Amino acid sequence: MDKAFLFDLLSVGSVSGNEAELEKKIYDRMQGRADQVSVDEMGNVTAMLNPSAPFTVLLAGHADEIGLMVTAVGSDGTLMVTGVGGIYVTGYPGQKVRIYTKGGVLYGAVANSREIAKNRELKASDLRIDIGAKDREDALRHVALGDTVTFDTDVRELLNGRITGRALDDRLGAFIVMEALEKARQKGASVGCCAVATTGEETTGSGAYAAASRLRPNAAIAVDVTWTSDNCGISEAQTGEIALGKGPVLCNSPSIHKKLNARLRACAERIGIPVQTEAAGGGTATDGDTMHMTGIGVPFALVSIPLRYMHNPAEVASLEDVRQCIDLLAEFLADCTPDMDLKPF
Ligand SMILES: [Zn+2]
Repeated sequence: MDKAFLFDLLSVGSVSGNEAELEKKIYDRMQGRADQVSVDEMGNVTAMLNPSAPFTVLLAGHADEIGLMVTAVGSDGTLMVTGVGGIYVTGYPGQKVRIYTKGGVLYGAVANSREIAKNRELKASDLRIDIGAKDREDALRHVALGDTVTFDTDVRELLNGRITGRALDDRLGAFIVMEALEKARQKGASVGCCAVATTGEETTGSGAYAAASRLRPNAAIAVDVTWTSDNCGISEAQTGEIALGKGPVLCNSPSIHKKLNARLRACAERIGIPVQTEAAGGGTATDGDTMHMTGIGVPFALVSIPLRYMHNPAEVASLEDVRQCIDLLAEFLADCTPDMDLKPF
C-alpha cells in the first residue's frame, strides 16, 4: 500500500460538498491504474476494471469530511458558523482552524474563555472564529459566506504503525477502495469492479446515490470507519467488541447481505486475515444504506476500519487494519464471478 498517497489525500480539506481538490488527486492518481477513470456531476470519482463485464461490484469509500461552514461575519470581523455533519461543538473552542476560501487556505483561532469552556450546551452558532480581521469589511475581503472550515491538524505517525489525524473517516475508505481495485487487477479480477470515492456521505448521501444509480451494480460494498470499544469508544453491548489493530470489521444488520458477508469472511480466512464482527439493529449510517435503496435494490455489505475518537481532530487508526482491508477487498473482487447467486435460497 502506498502510504505517501494516503498521506497526500489526508493533507487537503474536503468538507462535505467541497471534495473537488481531494477527488482530483484520486482522479489523477488512478490514470493508467484502472481501465476507466471518470468524474460525474456529483463530484464522485470512479475507477473501473472490466467495464463491459456482465456482473459489476461497486466499492464505495467517502471522500468528504465533517466541518463547519461560514454563515455570517460579525462587526468585529469574527466568523459565525454552522456545523456540517456530526460535529462535536465543544471540541472547537481554543483550537486553530483552516478556512477554505477562493484565494486559498486562511487560518483562524476559535474563541474560548472560561465561560465558553464551562458551557456544555454550546451550539455551533455560539462559535466565533478570529481570523485576525480588523472588522467585517476586512474579513469579507478574504472570506465568503459558505466557505468551509476544518481543524488545522495534519496526520501524524504514532507508535506501532498507528496514525492520528482529522477525517481518517473516511479518507481511509476512499484510499482503501482505490488500492483494492489496483490489487484486484493484479490478481486478475474478471467481474466489473468500480471503486468510487463518494461525495456528501456526512450530510446528504447524494454521491453514493448518484454513483449506484448510474453504475447499477449487482452488489456493493461500503467501506467506512467504525467505533472501537477498546478506548473511550462504545460499550461492546452496543455494537460489538471492536479493537484497533485486530482487523477489518464485518457488520450484521437487517439490510446487509448475508451471502456477501459469508463470502467476505471466507476470503479473509483464505488469505489469513482476522475479521471482527459488529451489529447494527437498523441502518448502518453509511453509503451502504443509500446504495442499497437505488434502482431495484442493491445487495450490499459493509467493511469497516476500526477507528478511535471518530469525528474528532485527532482520530486514531491502525495502518495494519488499513492494509488488511485492502487485501480483503482485493481478494473479494478477484473471487467474484458473473454467475454469483445472491438469492437466499
Ligand atoms: Zn464515514
